[in-house]
Amino acid sequence: MRLDLEALIGTSKPQSLPVVMGARLGEHADRTRFVIELSDPVKFRMFTLANPNRVVLDLPDVLWRIQGGPQKPSGTGAVKAYRYGQFRPGNARFVIDLNMPVNVAEPLVLPPQDGYGYRVVIDLFPSTQAAYEKKSGWPADLRPKAPVVSAIPSAPKSEGAKRVIVIDAGHGGLDSGTVGVDGTQEKDVVLAVAKRLGKELQRRGYITYLTRDTDVFIPLYSRTPLAHAKRADLFVSLHADSNPNPSVSGASIYTLSEKGSDREAAALAQKENQSDIIAGVDLTGDNSSVASILIDLAQRDTMNKSSRFAEAVLSKLKNATDILPREPHRSAAFVVLKSPDVPAVLIELGYLSNARDCARMGTDAWRSGVASSIADAVDGHFESVTAAAGPSQSASP
Ligand code: ZN
Repeated sequence: MRLDLEALIGTSKPQSLPVVMGARLGEHADRTRFVIELSDPVKFRMFTLANPNRVVLDLPDVLWRIQGGPQKPSGTGAVKAYRYGQFRPGNARFVIDLNMPVNVAEPLVLPPQDGYGYRVVIDLFPSTQAAYEKKSGWPADLRPKAPVVSAIPSAPKSEGAKRVIVIDAGHGGLDSGTVGVDGTQEKDVVLAVAKRLGKELQRRGYITYLTRDTDVFIPLYSRTPLAHAKRADLFVSLHADSNPNPSVSGASIYTLSEKGSDREAAALAQKENQSDIIAGVDLTGDNSSVASILIDLAQRDTMNKSSRFAEAVLSKLKNATDILPREPHRSAAFVVLKSPDVPAVLIELGYLSNARDCARMGTDAWRSGVASSIADAVDGHFESVTAAAGPSQSASP
């Protein structure tokens, strides 16, 4: 629902953060009921988004004390799955993925009773897609502004200016990314490596920016524009992968292409591109800015540089970790790599679904080793770029 379904439960201001104690699903013949239990009254807002269909419930900062994680829906009701977590500072969020279009009833707020805390009761009734879409959309005050991504390259930096590297730790906040065999979350591993890489590059004289330096959600569409705004010379996005086959292991690297070098790479890009959907970001209307930047001839040079850098990373990274044996450098349509003028790569540091990869990703030694080998590749890349800027452009590998 697009209307500002904002409800104020009570008026007292809690001394400390309200606690979310439970989230339950009730699947009935005529409706699916979603109940959230809280220690304190909170201000909340609910709206629905289409494509894919989701219900978003925004709360202020809360403490999460839900036992046992999200409940598994049966699959026959309106709810496909749900998740919760910090969306951004001051804003916690539930995102409910739907199996079908629904009509969301006005939330019911129940005071503490029978050992329960405050309960917010949301009933979802089956509806039609047309009716659902009519009521769906981002509330006007929250609608994300489409970032301006200029296709015009930024002015070249002056001679001798320091190189700028933007390091992008994937996922964050509500979007945990992939989850490892021992419960390790991708968002935490990549943030730890991003911070180390940033420090290491600064030590070597580069200027670095991190798209995030805390456990917070950053929409995909605002990650790439940062690189453009900072006139970055390189954009490095860090991720960790998973595979249904637990024996698959090793690091791999991705550069941008429209079609994808193979089905697996295309599927991975699709998975990584889900980040905004997972966190309940409205993609209608604003995705055009980043998602559909045309990869034209003007970008050929950027893409060549990206590929050269990817090869440099692989050659250094093998000193610090295992590399995926088969085709470790591939390409696909990753939203986060769609920068017209900043060479960009996405590194999958290893497989959290592989016990050995997962275990070492948790160690300081591995994280430091990986960070310094990527920094070595950055050094090598700029040495070769400077050399290639001589008589003629060097051919891409
Ligand atoms: Zn990822």
